[in-house]
Parts: sequence; structure tokens; C-alpha cells
Amino acid sequence: AKLQGRNTWQWYCGDISPQTCEHIALRREILEAIEDQQFVVYYQPLVDARTGEVRSLEALVRWNHPSRGIVPPNDFIPLAEQTGQIINIDQWVLRQACFDTVAINASRPVSQPVGVAVNISPVHFRRVGFFSEVQQVLEESGLAPYLLELEVTEGVLMSGTEKVIEQLAALRNIGVLVAIDDFGTGFSSLSYLRQLPINKVKLDRSFIQNIDHNRDNAAIVQGVITMAHHLGLQVVAEGVETLAEQEDLIRHGCDLLQGFRFSRPIPLPQFIALPTRLPAE
Ligand code: C2E
Ligand code: CA
Ligand code: CA
Ligand code: CA
Repeated sequence: AKLQGRNTWQWYCGDISPQTCEHIALRREILEAIEDQQFVVYYQPLVDARTGEVRSLEALVRWNHPSRGIVPPNDFIPLAEQTGQIINIDQWVLRQACFDTVAINASRPVSQPVGVAVNISPVHFRRVGFFSEVQQVLEESGLAPYLLELEVTEGVLMSGTEKVIEQLAALRNIGVLVAIDDFGTGFSSLSYLRQLPINKVKLDRSFIQNIDHNRDNAAIVQGVITMAHHLGLQVVAEGVETLAEQEDLIRHGCDLLQGFRFSRPIPLPQFIALPTRLPAE
């Protein structure tokens, strides 16, 4: 049970164990949140490292809770993963993100559509029916499959092996892109990645922080980029905050950059109002 620490959830349930109580309460709150549309999706741009042009956006969920205000995902996703409710949240975010991206692209030149990256929890990705769910959302929203990118963590890919590879191949067949999220924080090796039908590697923010002062991080980032490029994969750096980090990443040949230096995650109307190149002068 996660009952200690900041921003935690606490309910009173009498004699039931705190964990059971928490699950019951959260399950109910999340169902309500979905019904009452309390979830909102914020979007953060990914920019072309060389030109600063916005190429895609990552969908990041927030819970606009009636009494708690905007709750960040780290405060409810771990529990939602335990209760299985993350599937409902992910499904809602996926749908919202596809429809919003169609709207964003309607306001951009036809020749420069942006793609959208959606985080998919391991329990959701491994579920039977995930593939047809993706197909259905694409059909209903009218988003071109090559503009949808699913972000999954290394753990997912390391586990299920054959089933997971089948799922990845099916997604690739219809043109949907797959990125490995938080790359470097798990145990997968780049040689293992070679066997997987994936498109992108997202370097975790912990490797980007102070890359201009931390030689170990710089060496890791350089190594990952070189090898990923040999495997035909694009590399995204997340959590880019400073000009110095940006410059180092460009020097290392990183393809796409994401972080507060360019924009924080923002609601749809603000995203539509962003300049086409970032950071804004
Ligand atoms: P993530 O996928 O690694 O997403 C990147 C996180 O880093 C986001 O936190 C983003 O706001 C933050 N970030 C971006 N740029 C910077 C920067 O320059 N500096 C710093 N300090 N932080 C930066 P956020 O939005 O709080 O999301 C946290 C995590 O929650 C995400 O990590 C992702 O694992 C998960 N998450 C978010 N939305 C969803 C969702 O719809 N479904 C699932 N399954 N997970 C989600
Ligand atoms: Ca992500
Ligand atoms: Ca991360
Ligand atoms: Ca993550």
C-alpha cells in the first residue's frame, strides 16, 4: 500500500485493510472522473533538434479533481495500475489525443502534420484486444496511423517476448509507430532492440540532466545515439531544460528534443497557439 509520503490518497474504511480500502475508493473515484470528464490531456511538443520545428506532441494526462485541483499522473497512475483502472484512463487518453491531433492538424499546413505520442501502460499493452482498440480509435478519429506513436517502457518488451513481438509487428503493419520510453532505466540492451519492430528510443531525463557537466551521462547518450542510428532508430531526448543541454544533444546527433526549454505540457488551446518553431525568440 502507498499510504505514506506527500500527495497520497487516504480514505477511512473502518475494518477493511488500508490497501483494499484504497483500491475500492480509487476505483470509484476514477470511474466518476471518467464519467464527469475530470481527466484532461496536456500536450508537450517534440521538436526537430536541428530546426526547432514542432514535429509531434506527447499526450500527458492530468486529473482535474473537484477538491484536489490538478493532480499529476505520478500521484494516481501507480495505484490505477494496481486496480487495473489504468486501462480505462489510457483508453480515454488515446481517444482524446487522436481526436485532438486531428484538430491540431486542421489548423496547420497540410504538408506539415504533427504526430502524437501516447503512453501505454504495460497492463494495457499486453491486454488481448489492445490492437483492435487502436484500429478502432484510428478509424473513428480519422487520424492517419503513421501519426500515432505508442510509448511503452522497456519492461513490456523484455517480458512477454513472442506475444509482445506479434503485437508490435501488427501495429507496424498498419503503420503505427512505437517508441521505447524511459530508455536506459531498465535492463534492455540495444542488441535486444534489434529484434524488435520499433521506431524510436526515448532517452530518460535522468541521462539528459546536466549532460553538459556530467561526462558519464554524455558518454551514455552518445553511445545510445550512435548505436540507435545504426539500428535505424530515431532518438528523442526528454527533459531538456537548458540551452547547454540542447547544444550538447545536437552535437551528439540527437534527432528530437522535448522539455521545458521548448514548452511545458499545456492544454490543447495553448498548444494550437504555439509558434511552429521553438524555443520562441
Ligand atoms: P514520461 O512518459 O517519462 O513523461 C515525461 C515526464 O517528464 C512528464 O511528467 C513531463 O511533464 C515531464 N517533463 C517534460 N519535460 C521536462 C523537463 O524539461 N523537466 C522536468 N523536470 N520534467 C519534464 P508528467 O506529465 O508528470 O508524467 C509523469 C509520467 O506519468 C510520465 O512519464 C508517464 O510515465 C506517466 N503518464 C503520463 N500520462 C500518461 C498516460 O496517459 N498513460 C500512462 N499509462 N502513463 C502516463
Ligand atoms: Ca512518455
Ligand atoms: Ca521519463
Ligand atoms: Ca514513463
